[in-house]
Amino acid sequence: MEKLRFETQAIRTQAERSQHDEHSVPMYLTSSFVFEDAEEMRATFADEQQRNIYSRFSNPNVQEFVDKLCLLEGAEAGVATATGMAAVFGTFMAHLKQGDHILSSRAVFGSTHNVLMQTLPDYGITTTYGDVNDPESWEALVRPETKLLYVETPSNPGVEILDLAWLRDFCDRHNLLYVVDNCFATPYLQKPIDFGADLVVHSATKWIDGQGRVLGGAVVGKAELIKPIFTFVRRTGPSLSPFNAWVLSKSLETLHVRMDRHCSNALTLAQRLESHPDVEQVRYPFLNSHPQAEVARKQMTAGGGIVCFELDGGIERGRKYLDALQVCSLTANLGDSRTIATHPASTTHAKLTEAERLAAGIPPGLIRISVGLEHIEDIAGDIWQAIKASR
Ligand SMILES: *Cc1c(COP(=O)(O)O)cnc(C)c1O
Repeated sequence: MEKLRFETQAIRTQAERSQHDEHSVPMYLTSSFVFEDAEEMRATFADEQQRNIYSRFSNPNVQEFVDKLCLLEGAEAGVATATGMAAVFGTFMAHLKQGDHILSSRAVFGSTHNVLMQTLPDYGITTTYGDVNDPESWEALVRPETKLLYVETPSNPGVEILDLAWLRDFCDRHNLLYVVDNCFATPYLQKPIDFGADLVVHSATKWIDGQGRVLGGAVVGKAELIKPIFTFVRRTGPSLSPFNAWVLSKSLETLHVRMDRHCSNALTLAQRLESHPDVEQVRYPFLNSHPQAEVARKQMTAGGGIVCFELDGGIERGRKYLDALQVCSLTANLGDSRTIATHPASTTHAKLTEAERLAAGIPPGLIRISVGLEHIEDIAGDIWQAIKASR
């Protein structure tokens, strides 16, 4: 039989059937697994035989989720984590040591920024940010101790795009471990490994879950690079719970249909917002006005579910706008079936100075919309009436 396609793999990759012949995979809510006898236990602990021992190490639901994600991303191996941040942090801790240096861009998720700038320096690991709009200038930022390139594309919240294939060559020139956060695109829209990424990091909490229910994360990539991350997670404890893994594995079954609709709703909204008189700029990877639209089209099959736009009138206008929304939710999450609006300048990035926010691509009136699966006319109608009410 020919190789199964993405949609089929997402649905048909399942844990082995139990003696009950279930069609839908059950939840294996067990902290540990039993042994027949002392010899089996000895052989398992001696690593002569592969089987489940304890759910911090492995569990059938967690393994199913990892196996499926690896197939969808085209990865050799993977490890699941309790959250996306555990995947990000575990990757750094497993592959870096005191004195090492990371190259990244400011266009990364807020908590990742905090890990890079506040947590890792305590352990002697430092980071330099390159300009997301000028990757060529990154050549000058590489130091002898630079070990790892960490990027997010599209980035959160500003949907900035970096050229994945160009970065592969960059990493080859400088012998860097190449890590991509693929949370915004999901493997359905973009497969960084096809463009040469060594490791792909995910917050499964967002589009993969898709309904705002559970936290989860994963790292997938080359087997020899996953091994130390697996050891770090197994040893230190941020393992994915079997219940969350069960939810996330089910979620992957519908990822393609959900993303198709998220993307078509988002594109429609972005196009319409471009001609609204109160909107200064709209950012969406598949709009021709996006500075990296060409790169986005080269590496993504659609633009994703996040649309950003800037209202004239600054912070006050942004806050008034949020207060006027009637359908969209105000919440910190994204990638939900429900449309979510956030105003980064007064919430997630409120602690930065205005200059720092601008450097991070966040003007005062920037609104981030995680476009949901409601009817597009209801989403657009709510956003239009709120823009009007915020004048
Ligand atoms: C949310 C997010 C994370 C962190 O994921 P959690 O599951 O919240 O820990 C990492 N990267 C990006 C791009 C995100 O949006």
